[in-house]
Amino acid sequence: MRYTILGAGAMGSLFGGLLAAQGHTVELLDVNDLHLNKVRQQGLRLDTDGCSQTVHLIANRPEGAVQRPNWLIVFTKTMHTQAAMQSVKHLLGDTTRVLSLQNGLGNIERLNQFLPLERIAIGVTTVPADMHGPGNVGSHGQGHSRFMMADGQSSETIIELAADLTAAGLPSEQDLAVHAAIWQKVAFNAALNGLCALASCTVGQLGATQGGRKLAHGVAAEAGQVASACGVAVDEAVVHKTLDHAMDHHLHHKPSMLQDVLAKRPAEVEAIHGEIVRAGERTGVPTPHTTTLYTLLQLIQDPPSLG
Ligand code: NAD
Repeated sequence: MRYTILGAGAMGSLFGGLLAAQGHTVELLDVNDLHLNKVRQQGLRLDTDGCSQTVHLIANRPEGAVQRPNWLIVFTKTMHTQAAMQSVKHLLGDTTRVLSLQNGLGNIERLNQFLPLERIAIGVTTVPADMHGPGNVGSHGQGHSRFMMADGQSSETIIELAADLTAAGLPSEQDLAVHAAIWQKVAFNAALNGLCALASCTVGQLGATQGGRKLAHGVAAEAGQVASACGVAVDEAVVHKTLDHAMDHHLHHKPSMLQDVLAKRPAEVEAIHGEIVRAGERTGVPTPHTTTLYTLLQLIQDPPSLG
């Protein structure tokens, strides 16, 4: 199989590196020249639980991409999807399929500007990954990916993709009800990522106050109600249980949105809070907690200039 990874940061490099280690032809595409150069010169170092390995694979800027892949796996942050896809339009042959396991909502719509639904796969992953430095990514702990074709059809090709990822050490499966899992993760992320980013606190600190915990459950509940109005049945009990588990056990965890805010990088606020608020407005579901959170996140991310 020929795989191309668009957005070879933490997740893209992990997925690409593990697929390459299995013997697939993998090309990493990114705009981070420091990372690309390190991968070209020394290979990609992968630190996973109990194992460090260096994998040699092709690394290019999108405009210099050389292969037409069977699967293009998009792992940019959501706000960079369109620019990244625009820069690889020349790679999209008639049979190329695209997979997005990016967080947030609206990933199908962003990809559908470039490809028909029957060539888009969409899903969610709980695999964790961190950038340790240029040319070096790490992943610690268990994770699972589930996905389906965006046209809703069961597909042999996607079953093969899941088998390739699973063989590479990334347990994966086709899940024809993946929209529920996507919304469940969005509900979780809206609550913990958003509140920790705004309050500049860890997940444990948020859960240590009665108000913080109540607010987290309030935000997640709104996402569940919006999902339901959009025709997606989210198991709200699971979401609340997962939130409590994170607040009780992942005490020192700094969600990625907090890390982005602290580093003054754009965060995935639009794809998470923005999408929930807009879907709430479309379906007539009030989202007071999420709307407040969204407004405040916009203000800290992009404060208006007063001249
Ligand atoms: P990241 O910031 O580490 O990687 C994104 C990469 O995209 C960067 O290397 C960046 O240089 C690159 N990029 C930006 N614009 C580009 C362009 N125009 N063309 C090509 N590359 C471009 O982010 P990440 O942590 O790997 O997350 C990627 C996605 O996966 C996000 O949607 C995130 O929410 C989701 N996700 C992350 C994790 C995790 O543990 N890191 C887990 C599950 C899901």
